[in-house]
Amino acid sequence: MSETVTNWAGNITYTVGELHRPRSLDALRALVAGSRKVRVLGSGHSFNLIAEPGAGGVLLSVAGLPPEIDVDRAARTVRVSGGVRYAELARAVHAHGLALPNMASLPHISVAGSVATGTHGSGIAGGSLAAPVREVELVTADGSTVRIARGDARFGGAVTSLGALGVVTALTLDLEPAYRVEQYVFTELPLVGLDFGEVAASAYSVSLFTDWREPGFRQVWLKRRTDRPASAFPWAAPATEPMHPVPGMPAANCTEQFGVPGPWHERLPHFRAEFTPSSGDELQSEYLLPLPHALDALHALDAVRAHVAPVLQTCEVRTVAADAQWLSPAHGRDSVALHFTWVADTAAVLPAVRRVEEALDAFGARPHWGKLFTVPAPALRARYPRLPDFRDLATALDPGGKFANAFVQDVLSL
Ligand SMILES: Cc1cc2nc3c(=O)[nH]c(=O)nc-3n(C[C@H](O)[C@H](O)[C@H](O)COP(=O)(O)OP(=O)(O)OC[C@H]3O[C@@H](n4cnc5c(N)ncnc54)[C@H](O)[C@@H]3O)c2cc1C
Repeated sequence: MSETVTNWAGNITYTVGELHRPRSLDALRALVAGSRKVRVLGSGHSFNLIAEPGAGGVLLSVAGLPPEIDVDRAARTVRVSGGVRYAELARAVHAHGLALPNMASLPHISVAGSVATGTHGSGIAGGSLAAPVREVELVTADGSTVRIARGDARFGGAVTSLGALGVVTALTLDLEPAYRVEQYVFTELPLVGLDFGEVAASAYSVSLFTDWREPGFRQVWLKRRTDRPASAFPWAAPATEPMHPVPGMPAANCTEQFGVPGPWHERLPHFRAEFTPSSGDELQSEYLLPLPHALDALHALDAVRAHVAPVLQTCEVRTVAADAQWLSPAHGRDSVALHFTWVADTAAVLPAVRRVEEALDAFGARPHWGKLFTVPAPALRARYPRLPDFRDLATALDPGGKFANAFVQDVLSL
């Protein structure tokens, strides 16, 4: 049986032998044990071949498994099945008066797929979505279940694992008491004279947006927790109408602005769960590099903006706190994340992607695992000091390389 499966953006048609959506854990175990090559598909929001199993391989969607969300109020944790999306998870957690510390720009993505690629939101003190994960439950190559919890020597490889260790069937996450957030948008922040550190630290979560047609930022999005002291934002003017980060797109798709307080999960993502996120017709790239280089990196991008702007819809600048996951793009370094929403034309976009990569090369930029990049594998590998540890873990859990597709074999040299 041969199936056509595409990703959310439609730029990738996966080469797949068989597509399976097991309905129970037992069926999933049997399928994994009896298959030669397996890759897992989450919600399909990645822009590259990371999820592709290859000819003859099994693409295993976890979307058919019974969704489980078990909140332990006393312990302030939630155990969630891997295929659940953040929108459902956040609603359930909030109903118990609890919260996640962070969310990405959209709540449409699956939990396991997001943490597998190091997906993040923004916040100078906030880690990626992997940060609150305390335990991962995996079905490994022989169909058995392995639990890896924080404190286990293998944990550093277990969360941001690119799907290379097995099928993540459930995760347990730390929670905190629910909080409220006010979202404000400002316009026209100049690059000249920018104190990036001060701007990035001026709220719980800060995003700068530019189309690189001019130096400087068209929009600044601030998300302020109402339970923390508010800082002034003297560097730009408050927006006078609701905004969408992609010029020309309807602001109705975006979460509430103008400082109207609301629950954390209805303000931390930029896009509402019930609408198409971003522009919907796009490609994306993103690079994380050490925070102290943020301003130099922005000037390096400014120097190539003539090559970037013609194929760019918007560029978002965020911050991500350092974490300890071996393959996390924020591993071991507080990072600035430079994101690009491109037009949906791979051939036109790739030269601009290369320009960006050349501009950011000197800063040791690590590409987002789920987005488009062309950084050669040897250069990439050199940017992950704990990669040998991850390789050892993958070999221990999956000695035959059942979960290693061409993408991970190439970038990780598995
Ligand atoms: C509109 C849009 C906005 C985005 N915004 C952000 C953002 O704000 N911040 C950010 O960092 N990224 C962002 N992304 C990128 C996105 O978060 C990542 O691509 C993420 O991996 C998507 O999760 P997914 O479930 O769709 O994963 P998929 O694309 O389905 O899979 C990604 C990887 O995870 C593996 N995987 C998935 N499920 C499992 C499982 N159960 N067990 C084992 N492995 C699994 C897959 O094999 C694959 O290797 C955005 C993408 C889009 C399309």
